[in-house]
Amino acid sequence: MNANGPRGPSPSPSPDAPPASACAPVRTCVGCRGTGERSVLLRAVLDRTDADDARLVVDVARSLPGRGAWVHPDLRCVDLAERRRAWSRALRGPSVIDAGAVRAHVLGEEADERSQRPVTTGTTHGAGRTARTVDKEAGQKPMGTR
Ligand SMILES: [Zn+2]
Repeated sequence: MNANGPRGPSPSPSPDAPPASACAPVRTCVGCRGTGERSVLLRAVLDRTDADDARLVVDVARSLPGRGAWVHPDLRCVDLAERRRAWSRALRGPSVIDAGAVRAHVLGEEADERSQRPVTTGTTHGAGRTARTVDKEAGQKPMGTR
């Protein structure tokens, strides 16, 4: 269920790190150039395993070594960064970088939000059933007392 899953056990955050609420570290989005908290933005790093095919990978745990680029989990920001070649500038990479993995990650998060809605409807169903049961009991009580 957690997005951290596929990457295996993530290293525990450094004990020196201040609590997020005290002084949240702020990063700049490579797409819209807006700022956001480190915990809100996605971190993308360049996968250099294949020198001829530069592609981005999402650093889900925000702990991979090397240069990272930060972007809002928003398709508009991912596209903007691609059009401005901001990925290359931020990561010192080639002029064309495949941001497909980041895009897929953002799309996946949006799909998750959508799939959670039917669950909420189910809860409403249960509440309706409970209300009916309470109604029945309320109707029986006066008869039982008399
Ligand atoms: Zn942005």
